[in-house]
Amino acid sequence: STRARIVILGGGAAGMSMANRLVRRLSGATITVVEPRELHQYQPGWTLVASGVWEADRTLRPNADFRPAGIDWVKGPAVGIDAEQRKITLADASTLEYDLLVVATGLQLNYDLIEGMSPELIGSNGIGSVYASLEAATRTRDAIDGWLDKGGGQGIFTSPQTAIKCAGAPIKMTFTTLSRIKAKGERERFDLDYYTAGGGMFSQPWVSEFLKQRFDRENITRHHLQYLSAIDPAGRQAEFTSKDGSTEVRDYDFIHVVPPMSAPDFVKDSDLIAQDGPFKGEWLDSDMYTMQHNRYPEVFGIGDVIGCPINKTAASVKAQAPVVEANIAAFLQEKALPARHNGYTSCPLITDIGKAMLVEFGYDNNMDFLPSFSFIDPKEESWSVWVLKDHLLQPAYYAMLKGRV
Ligand code: FAD
Repeated sequence: STRARIVILGGGAAGMSMANRLVRRLSGATITVVEPRELHQYQPGWTLVASGVWEADRTLRPNADFRPAGIDWVKGPAVGIDAEQRKITLADASTLEYDLLVVATGLQLNYDLIEGMSPELIGSNGIGSVYASLEAATRTRDAIDGWLDKGGGQGIFTSPQTAIKCAGAPIKMTFTTLSRIKAKGERERFDLDYYTAGGGMFSQPWVSEFLKQRFDRENITRHHLQYLSAIDPAGRQAEFTSKDGSTEVRDYDFIHVVPPMSAPDFVKDSDLIAQDGPFKGEWLDSDMYTMQHNRYPEVFGIGDVIGCPINKTAASVKAQAPVVEANIAAFLQEKALPARHNGYTSCPLITDIGKAMLVEFGYDNNMDFLPSFSFIDPKEESWSVWVLKDHLLQPAYYAMLKGRV
């Protein structure tokens, strides 16, 4: 039993899972979740919404369906963290003190770092972006429909210069759009280009090589080490910047924009942000194995906000949650932290409408595959993985929110 005051910042995939786990694990603790939203968003469904496969409302459930009894729920955003005083400031200027903090805020989409771009533009002027919100995913579907109805022209798909959540999503959007173009029987009328700030296509080396070959075979022109730096919606022009600072301007009929991402501003402005190294100023300074903060031991991080070379998927949250639970329980008893996260992340990489590959990997051995199912080959595209994505992963995700898996 403990009398610890625990605050969980964010009640999304990671925060909700932790609330359910900690309420069961720790008797006597006071657990407060700070979360402004009323509805839980199943973000992995957004690519299916934007590809015209799912209706939007299939991705929404009230938070009340998952919220455990016996916790306090603050419905509003946190605006400040004082790690020295162990205090959270809320939007109404009131404060919450904690003995133990779980940072599970997810990440922030920085559309403003692309000159001329804002999330309001999604769905107009041939601009799509699956990331901004469910509404944006729906409007992205409409923008792609509009391009297909036009009967041809230039499409551009982008991937930015920062880590992103679901690194497969920019690629999935390219493939599902290609699939729809082919279904119209008008492939030769459409030009597709893919711009990525990375030298490869994906962090996992085998997948990166596979995707290079597939893009080439499908005649999707790849541009590496260039990122989208500005957009002129009215003129339908996009500017790309190379590592050496040189720029190139391209005309488009449709563009899929993936913005740079980082920890939310109020986390960036706090003592909890990384002070040096590859995550400096952008991501939470937590240990990628124990998930404990590197400088404030009473703080743990989970989900998209953490500084980490891979992860940023709901599948990673599923692997991280039992680790964070075990380590928090040990920390409160002043014991050594027993659990380590192996970096597990997974992506049902859609390669066609009706086909996908289940790519699962972790930190070790050059991000070697970590397959969960003996009957699924990570190097094979199959209809069965598509069915997994289309029907089975969402119930598994909801079980995770309830802390059951
Ligand atoms: P989130 O689930 O985003 O939750 C963060 C929560 O924090 C939100 O509820 C938010 O309201 C809250 N919050 C934010 N700011 C504050 C504040 N100031 N105060 C209080 N609360 C705050 N993952 C997969 O595993 N497989 C996939 O196929 C997949 N596809 C994806 C496709 C798309 C288009 C997107 C966008 C994501 C996809 N993901 C996928 C990624 C997955 O959704 C995330 O990795 C996961 O949701 C991370 O959980 P989280 O709790 O860290 O963040």
